[in-house]
Amino acid sequence: MTLELVTIPCRTDNYAYLLHDAASGDTALIDAPEAAPILTALQTRGWTLRQILITHHHGDHIEAVPELVAATGAQVLGAKADAHRLPPLTRALTEGDTVQVGPESAQVIDVSGHTLGHIAFHFPESRYAFTADSLMAGGCGRLFEGTPAQMWHSLSKLAALPPETLICSGHEYTASNLRFATTIEPQNEALLSRIARVTTARAENRATVPSRLSGELATNPFLRANLPHIKALLGLPDAPDAAVFAEIRARKDKF
Ligand code: ZN
Ligand code: FE
Repeated sequence: MTLELVTIPCRTDNYAYLLHDAASGDTALIDAPEAAPILTALQTRGWTLRQILITHHHGDHIEAVPELVAATGAQVLGAKADAHRLPPLTRALTEGDTVQVGPESAQVIDVSGHTLGHIAFHFPESRYAFTADSLMAGGCGRLFEGTPAQMWHSLSKLAALPPETLICSGHEYTASNLRFATTIEPQNEALLSRIARVTTARAENRATVPSRLSGELATNPFLRANLPHIKALLGLPDAPDAAVFAEIRARKDKF
């Protein structure tokens, strides 16, 4: 049985996600950008929130935690490394810990880079990975705290998940991420057809997340820094993967 997944647009371009197990009624939220749309999503379905899973400390991912805890009494789980800058945690998590939602256990993966202490949650049975601002649809988060080598290592862990995994990321940045991707790989057919699909989705005001990992591997330049033809396109044929990733990230920062 797959956990039910609800994608909730918040603020201007954030996403929160609800996970629900119909048999037990168990419900979890991943990230808390804004209380009102999340409470509405819960109320319209008659769901009771039991846990809030936090990916990282940025305000646009945690701001609504106090209001949601006050409204629902939910437990709060987040990275031990971030505990000093997160709302009070019921449970502090490190890589390899598991989190239970209904019958399913999720693995906590350290994906530091955007921030130090950023974690992702992988639900192997339902095939979801909640990646927030680490691996994003068509891109990756800016390196505010970590090094390029750290982010490359983090992305490599996510890239190794089963390709059918749905990547549930934190923002609607896909269109501009893919525009940037064409500056690296203008001839990538999978990228060009993805841009067409994303353009249609945005014109209809539909979310472009979650996205399938297989599609990210085919089109997201930040997952492709290890490929010889990408290194050649960048004029770095002999550079280590992390150095190629660093070059792509530096170009995106100036894009
Ligand atoms: Zn962030
Ligand atoms: Fe964010």
